[in-house]
Amino acid sequence: MERSGQNLSQRKRLGLMGGTFDPIHVGHLVVAEEARTRFDLERVIFVPNNQPPHKKAYQVAQAEHRYAMCLLATASNPFFEVSREELERPGPSYTIDTIRAFRARLGSEVELYFITGADAVLEIMTWREPEAILAEAHVVAVHRPGFDLQRLSAAIGPEQGARILTMPMPGLEISSTDLRRRVAAGESIRYLTPEAVVDYIYKTGLYR
Ligand code: ATP
Ligand code: MG
Repeated sequence: MERSGQNLSQRKRLGLMGGTFDPIHVGHLVVAEEARTRFDLERVIFVPNNQPPHKKAYQVAQAEHRYAMCLLATASNPFFEVSREELERPGPSYTIDTIRAFRARLGSEVELYFITGADAVLEIMTWREPEAILAEAHVVAVHRPGFDLQRLSAAIGPEQGARILTMPMPGLEISSTDLRRRVAAGESIRYLTPEAVVDYIYKTGLYR
């Protein structure tokens, strides 16, 4: 796999961070900030998805709630933005469609960095048009506890695997699944997500 920091050109660089964000938590924020500084990204845009194609096991919170929590969580970082791109597009959200939409809007001069955890990169690269994704964007795979990035090349083949950038960082064992479970169990979620998101969750009664 290519090491991070190599082959960076002088073009404007933009990070895209897709996810369900149900709810957004500090894991997402730390990963995005780390990628921003590591790859010298001008901005990182969080793109909450509409209907996750592979998340049917539980009821996903309303898109507008997830979008609102992303706004609250990113408000204090001038380099973070939240996009409604996938929310405004009907049907399931596919990464390749999103990358093409940003590409169409921003032109060919911008380099796109699609930031993803070690679990999600496997899904994305075995799901839809991985070759087109790699042609249009740099894919950054971030270490996530419990998911072995070494398996990536085995799963998607060494040729595509070699084109994925890895970003080593301290593993953060935190997930939206655990936050939802904690809220339902009446346990604290303080410091696992920004205070404004904690307040929003209690105010709206989400995940109870
Ligand atoms: P869920 O438990 O509901 O699947 P999640 O915590 O995995 O939620 P997602 O919205 O599914 O959050 O993830 C969005 C993106 O963020 C994915 O690329 C995922 O791999 C990445 N991600 C989430 N949490 C972490 C973490 N703790 N470390 C590294 N990457 C993470
Ligand atoms: Mg997930």
